[in-house]
Amino acid sequence: MSEKVAEKREFQAEVKQVLDIVVHSLYTDREVFIRELVSNASDALEKLRHLQLTEKDIFDDSLEAEINVTTDETAGTITIQDFGIGMNREELVENLGTIAHSGSKAFLKAIQENGSKNENLIGQFGVGFYSAFMVAEEVTVYTHSWKTDAEGYCWKSDGSGTYEIEESDGQRRGAKIVVKLKEDQQEFAKSDRVKGILENYSAFVPFPLNLNGEKINTVGALWLKSASEVTEEEYKDFYKFQANAFDEPRFWLHFSADAPLEINSLLFVPQQNMEQFGIGRMEPGVSLYCRKVLIDRHPEGLLPEWMRFARGVVDSADLPLNISRESMQDSSIIRKLSKVLTRRFLKMLAEKEKKDPDTFKDFYKNFSQFLKEGVVSDASNREQIAKLLRYESTHTESGTPTSITDYITRMGSDQKDIFYLFGSSRQSIESGPYLEAFQSRGLEVLFVTDPIDEFVMSHLGEFDGKKLVSADRQDVELPDADESGEDALSPEESESLTNWMKEKLGERVSDVVVSKRLTDSPAVVLNTDASMTPQMRRMMKAMNQEGANMPDMPVRFELNPKHSLIKSIAALQNTDEELASAVSEQVFAGARLSAGLEDDNSKVVKGMNEVLGKLLNR
Ligand code: ADP
Repeated sequence: MSEKVAEKREFQAEVKQVLDIVVHSLYTDREVFIRELVSNASDALEKLRHLQLTEKDIFDDSLEAEINVTTDETAGTITIQDFGIGMNREELVENLGTIAHSGSKAFLKAIQENGSKNENLIGQFGVGFYSAFMVAEEVTVYTHSWKTDAEGYCWKSDGSGTYEIEESDGQRRGAKIVVKLKEDQQEFAKSDRVKGILENYSAFVPFPLNLNGEKINTVGALWLKSASEVTEEEYKDFYKFQANAFDEPRFWLHFSADAPLEINSLLFVPQQNMEQFGIGRMEPGVSLYCRKVLIDRHPEGLLPEWMRFARGVVDSADLPLNISRESMQDSSIIRKLSKVLTRRFLKMLAEKEKKDPDTFKDFYKNFSQFLKEGVVSDASNREQIAKLLRYESTHTESGTPTSITDYITRMGSDQKDIFYLFGSSRQSIESGPYLEAFQSRGLEVLFVTDPIDEFVMSHLGEFDGKKLVSADRQDVELPDADESGEDALSPEESESLTNWMKEKLGERVSDVVVSKRLTDSPAVVLNTDASMTPQMRRMMKAMNQEGANMPDMPVRFELNPKHSLIKSIAALQNTDEELASAVSEQVFAGARLSAGLEDDNSKVVKGMNEVLGKLLNR
């Protein structure tokens, strides 16, 4: 192309929103833009280093892998140049004109939810390249892709809605970002000021970093040092650098091994659970290195899916350098790495709980969804993860959870199973009819209140060789309670009542029997189908149209032969069958309601009014 015409394009709508906030908010920590641009430069160099392992044909291949920052007080500019992979035209449009970056997405979402007035939010998310517009009158990017057949380009914008792209001859490989500073931001054109910022934020850049030709000392690969050589501050700073995060890590694991594999790793648990911001699934955040060479920033399959909240670095000298993303899945070394690291990470969490319960508690509050996902999806670590789960129970105070391991220590010698009960809250479980039988026998029941716990319990199945059993199952084996049948219905009366009621309720019940479970409630319905609990039914109904037409399953209806209401029905059955029938319907509806099987409250209210009407007109 001989004639070079600048093409003017609009930023994507989301980018405009980000820019608008970035440019117009009064924001104190503007200096972070330097960190963002240096971090992009470092990424581009790492990507190049990796390409060089497999590609022979690389443009300008003799260039040093380094980052050069230059300031010019007279021109009022700061320039960040790298000799990394650079960008071609499509990449410029895609990367600098749309939101590719998950931090920016989370930022926008949080701004939308919290209102654009919250300036602190900018500090919590990296907005990447666009942060340059906090200080820039204009940003110009000169770049040439590593691909030999690409052209050089110049990209330019003042951050107000549009940008220009133009072909530009004579560009070296990589990217040179020239930030023309606003009148009131000239401090970033001063060498001393920038030196301080680089030393502060970019100490871990794994490439030579120069400011106006002078080398800035960097710390480099922290994970290769021994833990005793690293300060707490260095860990925190490294986390921020590596995860491109603005929060502090909650805690971390610095783990090295020589055999059977050589591993140097540094795993961090972040402060924030980014998935809570509704940005969708996080990418895996632990980068894979081989002898300080980055292999994959977000490797799928290095660690189990549920560990995607962890950030950090894993370096193994045993990895083949040219391992590709595709072949990673089948690599036995990766599998071994994954196994060792996951176990070690779980061990660290367990130790954390012992040594620092409050820290663990807060971690659990924010990240338990991942552990629960792990129990469901990670069969090989299921029980280890389950050890970390915490639930309240009939034996704990409200707000004080217990572990399943501790539950087991409290089990009596004749208790075989671990009992749990699902409900929307502790209170709703406690006020339902299911606990009576367990409490009267001194059996502990775990309260599970998170919808995912249903799946957790059914996937876990058992713990430490003991079955996990839902307390509303009809086949729960309970030891006989002390029954002084004196004021209860006689066996003949009971039989007559249950037979009669079974006929009245018809197909809605699989059976009507006298209950051994109940002490206070008149009746209870029990779940006959372990594979479809009331909660699962409700979830299915909520999720799909088909679910809305799911027929109700027949339930087992158990009556309390000592309850005055049941005894009255038995008596009434012979004198006023119509009223007995209406009251029975109402008791049945109430029991279904407690079981979470009744979706239509208005039906229950209508039935109640009918019964009241009949009673008053007697
Ligand atoms: P992030 O770096 O977190 O992905 P940015 O908004 O900072 O988000 O950058 C968007 C994209 O632009 C990057 O993912 C990268 O593909 C590209 N990019 C930014 N800076 C450079 C650079 N110096 N060299 C090559 N590509 C770059």
